[in-house]
Amino acid sequence: MEIHHHQYEAVIVGAGGAGLSAAVYAARGGANVAVISKLYPPRSHTGAAQGGINAALGNLEEDHWEWHMFDTVKGSDYLGDQEAIELMVRKAPEIVYQLEHLGLPFDRTPEGKIMQRPFGGHTRNYGEAPVKRSCHAADRTGHMILQTLYQNCIKEGITFFDEFHVLDLLLEDGVCRGAVAYEIATGDLHVFHSKAVLFATGGCGRIFSFTSNAHALTGDGLASVYRRGVPLEDMEFFQFHPTGLYPLGILITEAVRGEGGVLRNDQGERFMERYAPTIKDLAPRDLVSRAIYLEVREGRGIGGKDYVHLDATQLGQAIIKAKLPEIADFCRTYVGVDPVKQPIPVKPTVHYAMGGIPTDIDAQVIVDDQGTPVAGLYAAGECACVSVHGANRLGCNSLLDIVVFGQRGGVRLAEYVKGADFAPLPPEPEAWSVSQIERFLKGPGDHQEKIGALRAEMQELMMRDVGVFRTEEPLRQALAGLKALKARYQEAEIDDRGHRFNTDLLEAIELGNLLELAEVAAAGALNRQESRGAHYREDFPQRDDANWLKHTLACKVAGQIEFSYKPVSITKFQPKERKY
Ligand SMILES: Cc1cc2nc3c(=O)[nH]c(=O)nc-3n(C[C@H](O)[C@H](O)[C@H](O)COP(=O)(O)OP(=O)(O)OC[C@H]3O[C@@H](n4cnc5c(N)ncnc54)[C@H](O)[C@@H]3O)c2cc1C
Repeated sequence: MEIHHHQYEAVIVGAGGAGLSAAVYAARGGANVAVISKLYPPRSHTGAAQGGINAALGNLEEDHWEWHMFDTVKGSDYLGDQEAIELMVRKAPEIVYQLEHLGLPFDRTPEGKIMQRPFGGHTRNYGEAPVKRSCHAADRTGHMILQTLYQNCIKEGITFFDEFHVLDLLLEDGVCRGAVAYEIATGDLHVFHSKAVLFATGGCGRIFSFTSNAHALTGDGLASVYRRGVPLEDMEFFQFHPTGLYPLGILITEAVRGEGGVLRNDQGERFMERYAPTIKDLAPRDLVSRAIYLEVREGRGIGGKDYVHLDATQLGQAIIKAKLPEIADFCRTYVGVDPVKQPIPVKPTVHYAMGGIPTDIDAQVIVDDQGTPVAGLYAAGECACVSVHGANRLGCNSLLDIVVFGQRGGVRLAEYVKGADFAPLPPEPEAWSVSQIERFLKGPGDHQEKIGALRAEMQELMMRDVGVFRTEEPLRQALAGLKALKARYQEAEIDDRGHRFNTDLLEAIELGNLLELAEVAAAGALNRQESRGAHYREDFPQRDDANWLKHTLACKVAGQIEFSYKPVSITKFQPKERKY
């Protein structure tokens, strides 16, 4: 294996919406930047986002940033940091216009304004009724954002290392020094010496079996910083999106309900009227997912099975064709259902990690409740926790988050590298990465444990014991099961021992990351003895502000997970009972 060396002032890991926004603004700020991505950039998961991006433009009806802020805070079950939320929602209109000026083809109203539609939990006048806030380009909004940003990166002349898989962060004595990446085409290692690194590696939904997340969403960035002693924040909060296409888990965007689709049980009843009388099917995702599970539990799943119907037949052919072409295609192709004529079978699917690498509002990674930063280390997008989504994210707030905080991260990165020196690299910076690769390429070959089988066991275990409803005993079993899986992982082997395009090797490395994160999520879920947002403990069904209105920080100390806490920033809206 050859080792190559590079030097850039700033390295951005990840080329989704967050990484590309950061890259554009870091380059414009004068930084010499390299973007490293394990996927070819336009294949990043941002490109799969369907529904839209929020901004209180008020193009179709009255709207205000204060309403957007309130909805986001309430949606977060009061765990979101209000300083960050205020910044994000106030910036939203400007961000949408910036994207438009960069070339994003939004849908239009007849008079030519940007078209908007309602999404779950977004309301008029502090909860009165759903409001049209999500700006969209049909059901391909993420695709358009990603293409637009990528074109602008090319225009800025940014250097890309495509299909390079980052294995390790170089961090010593609290100072970031670069990263180590594996070149997928050759099997060579590349040491990137830099003054700063920004992680924008996206989510980690692949710790579960039934998920809307792409195969590549294995939380590599989260695991890399965690292994180097940086804590992870609020990892117990995982969003289940109510409408995953049954039986595959592919996402059916909330825009179907935004456009007028409704959920029905086996009796044809529009059951959300019982759970959220005011905004019904447009309640936030945590509530709707729990409602579906309860309907199924009480025997009202379709044909007694574990799914319900999403009925969009009343929308008619013209609306479905114009506004939801992609999802109509998914339904026809994958399950042979034509949504114009038949209801869509759906079941909650694992969708979004609210937790992540703790950052401040400038995307700087912070390690404690005092806001102490790690010199030169940044994170933005789904892998970060700033925290604008708290315990439950509202639809269309992630695309906003990645562009707002990606951009702020890029600006800050450029300022930081101007005033910083290159800290020296540690001796043998590639040592840990080499050991990981050699372990798999030079194992004894007796094939005791297979990576694919271990991954499937982990995903099933997480789904069963760390899912929508949680209780102490299953969570304890999950932790014991994960510990056993981690031990077996140490014995696992791969078939392909080659150097070129060795996807066996990459999947083995990714599984190591997933196991680490699954354990943090399960331990966090056991630790938090209350129910808040997406984290629902049947043995502690109430929200407990007296004891748990705080962020969790999970740190790896001598191989064990240690918890500490961070206060929530509350500036405008005091916690109240959350009803819809
Ligand atoms: C199906 C689907 C639909 C969605 N719809 C919406 C929506 O309508 N509105 C909304 O607001 N949100 C939506 N979301 C959520 C939103 O799309 C994501 O949270 C967001 O796009 C994440 O962006 P990101 O830039 O953080 O990460 P991603 O876009 O996931 O990009 C991650 C990048 O990191 C790179 N990477 C990862 N690991 C490594 C490594 N080890 N080495 C090098 N590179 C690495 C990848 O190559 C990739 O470029 C949706 C999500 C899904 C799954």
